[in-house]
Amino acid sequence: MTSSGWAGPAVVIQTAFLGDVVLTTPLLAALAARHGPVDVVTTPGAAPLLETHPAVRRVIPYDKRGRDRGWRGLRALATRLREERYARAYLPHRSLRTATLALLARIPARIGFHDGWRFFYTEVRRRPADGHEIDRLLALAGEPAAAYAPQLRPTPEDERAAAGLLAAAGISAPFVAIAPGSIWGSKRWPYYEELACRLIAQVAVVVVGGPEDAGLGEEIVRAVEGGQGRSRAVNVCGKLTLRQSAALIARAAVLVTNDSAPLHVATAMETPIVALFGPTIPEFGFGPVGPRDVTLGVAGLVCRPCSRHGPPRCPLGHHRCMRDLGPEVVAAAIEETGALRRRD
Ligand code: SF4
Repeated sequence: MTSSGWAGPAVVIQTAFLGDVVLTTPLLAALAARHGPVDVVTTPGAAPLLETHPAVRRVIPYDKRGRDRGWRGLRALATRLREERYARAYLPHRSLRTATLALLARIPARIGFHDGWRFFYTEVRRRPADGHEIDRLLALAGEPAAAYAPQLRPTPEDERAAAGLLAAAGISAPFVAIAPGSIWGSKRWPYYEELACRLIAQVAVVVVGGPEDAGLGEEIVRAVEGGQGRSRAVNVCGKLTLRQSAALIARAAVLVTNDSAPLHVATAMETPIVALFGPTIPEFGFGPVGPRDVTLGVAGLVCRPCSRHGPPRCPLGHHRCMRDLGPEVVAAAIEETGALRRRD
């Protein structure tokens, strides 16, 4: 029997990084079109992003590294899922933990990728080796590439919070958002301060990110305040929830970002992107996809790319994949998006 033969609700288990969860929203939309809104098991961090998504019936947070960690947490969640009597589980995350959870929950149809834990699945779908991650994830539902786009839905309260923070900072006109952070140190472009100092003569700058990026944001704002800027720079890192941050990014003329989660949030909010790739490359499947987006990276470096995620530090010490990408090149790319011209 194939999964389509089972009646009952569907659950998607996706406990990967935040950006991966955003890129899973097209899969959720595809599954909702087929089965009705789905339940999603995801990390507590990503849960608020999905709670308001129209393809989602309910979000079940799984704190796999905290409160729910270990075998006991896994079994407790499996018991909870079993009580929901799901007919099918879609498993875009290829971890053993995800496969075990669906099995222990006794979900009769378990659909996963061929390069996951196939003996735990009842249906195995081929995960394309190439293409964008959005399309590779859509293949789990047997959907063609680009059938659905990433989407996030901030609430009116989220919109008001973002607008209120900008107003309180004295930013009324369109602005450039910059997201300088990344979990992986080698992915962080080192010239955001210089870029902000260039931009500030023309346009306001808003630094976005989580609480862990607040220090980076402060340094950028301090650098701008020491210069001759006519516009304002403000650091909102850690001051907004994820959905409020999405609402703020939606208001930006353009987002400048590393290869990190804000890139995918901007994709979902249809904000033009200038994406800076260092130790990773867009061909890994995580680049921007919008028609006005620009991707930058240093060509001709024999060491690039050096890892799937980007190492904590450059193993060669010189970090040329980022250091050779000057602020003047990034400023020109912002011009190329046309975002600043539309401001006038
Ligand atoms: S080894 Fe090369 S690609 Fe990797 S971080 Fe260093 S400069 Fe970048």
